[in-house]
Amino acid sequence: MTPVASVLTDANLKSALYILAFALFIYGLSGLTGPRTAVRGNRIAAVGMVIAVAATLLVDPINNIVLIVLGLLIGVAVGVPAARQVRMTAMPQMVALFNGVGGGAVALIAWAEFRETGGFATEPTYVAIFSIFSALVGSISFWGSNIAFAKLQALMSGSPKSLGALQLPVQVVIGAVALGAGVFMIAEPQDEIFMIALLVAAGIVGVMLVLPIGGADMPVVISLLNAFTGLAAAAAGVALDNQALIVAGMIVGASGTILTQQMAIAMNRTITSVVVGGFGGDSVAAGPGADGAEGGTVRSTSAADAAIQMSYARQVVVVPGYGMAVAQAQHAVREMAKVLEAKGVEVKYAIHPVAGRMPGHMNVLLAEADVPYEQLKEMDEINQEFGRTDVSLVIGANDVTNPDARNKADSPIYGMPILNVDESGSVIVLKRSMSSGYAGIENPLFYNDKTQMLFGDAKASVGEITAELGAL
Ligand code: NDP
Repeated sequence: MTPVASVLTDANLKSALYILAFALFIYGLSGLTGPRTAVRGNRIAAVGMVIAVAATLLVDPINNIVLIVLGLLIGVAVGVPAARQVRMTAMPQMVALFNGVGGGAVALIAWAEFRETGGFATEPTYVAIFSIFSALVGSISFWGSNIAFAKLQALMSGSPKSLGALQLPVQVVIGAVALGAGVFMIAEPQDEIFMIALLVAAGIVGVMLVLPIGGADMPVVISLLNAFTGLAAAAAGVALDNQALIVAGMIVGASGTILTQQMAIAMNRTITSVVVGGFGGDSVAAGPGADGAEGGTVRSTSAADAAIQMSYARQVVVVPGYGMAVAQAQHAVREMAKVLEAKGVEVKYAIHPVAGRMPGHMNVLLAEADVPYEQLKEMDEINQEFGRTDVSLVIGANDVTNPDARNKADSPIYGMPILNVDESGSVIVLKRSMSSGYAGIENPLFYNDKTQMLFGDAKASVGEITAELGAL
């Protein structure tokens, strides 16, 4: 072996490169805590991943390099254009899909390991245990993520579907089949049909886990499945004695778990209540000018009136939601804010943790439009300010402003922390109709005496307001 080849295949080089890769993962992850540093953080972590992959390919004996390179090329050819072209509003389903692919890959690795080792006959017991775990959890994650993708992509209805009283018993029986097959395989080498049975049964458990969950809870579920995939990958890392897989898997598992918890808290749902049964199916709609369920009347306004009100305000709080993302109104909003600021009006933005369709959705959009970061106020901070706010301008937000979450104990979103816009002097809501938001429920804010509705596409409405402001 040449000196260069012996250095390249030295296990110490692999360890050193892995440590460098882990440092980059963690440093990159710390960049994701703010929109300004997020892109750089992502790139740094990606460099770490390239180093980890290169270290693995360099040092370990590789028999099928052609297949590996082919796999990498296909992955790049599919992944890069998909990530570039995806709309921000479709990001959650993309995350679901990518997460599913990760879970599926881990399950397939476990299956390959099973075949290569004669059903783990040549391996110590711990390898069998960790491989079985990764097959089980990877398969649940793959199939569950695919259902989440289909619901968010509207390939199937987002409303909860279950077998009713039979749901839990059937799930327990199928789960027991998967576990039983796993225990047999750990106890002694078995025929391949046991592995196939385990993968199929775990897949059915994954499907049954996600089907009864409503669309509004889907981000929490995706985050939970993401944590599952991470744990499965870490287990595969233990089985294959690969430190890079263990560390990357644990980072995904830990961050997925923390994110799941934080999102559940932001929606005031326990993780168990999300998994056991959700809300948020297909939305209900009423026409503009409709009377509310509570009997209140909706008042509509014009861009000219909205502009006059705001130009006399000391403070205007912009409350963005999913509709701003759909309308791609963020740049128009920034232009409107500049005109208001030129008139001496203080403009702030109220950011609800689950406004939009993914965590941080509003931060990303507003950062893209160069809204100064200091003007973005988290929910707890801005909620103390609505009392002294003259006008709250709600742009395509609905559920995150719904006072029923505070006042109506039988509301599906009761207890979810919301932005208390109804405490401000007046509220102007920009949306196209009286349709409900993601949770599919009415919003009494729209029938409040303080509220005026400006119907229309958010981008067009904001543009009209800006034009009127300019003419004042
Ligand atoms: P909502 O989904 O409650 O409401 C959005 C509103 O935007 C709709 O009522 C719609 O009304 C309006 N809208 C849609 N398109 C336009 C447009 N072009 N112009 C103007 N308005 C438009 O959004 P929120 O942000 O208030 O709440 C987010 C919801 O999504 C919560 O229920 C949350 O739990 C859930 N969720 C959050 C996720 C996250 O991680 N952030 C992920 C998945 C779900 P109309 O049709 O009348 O225009």
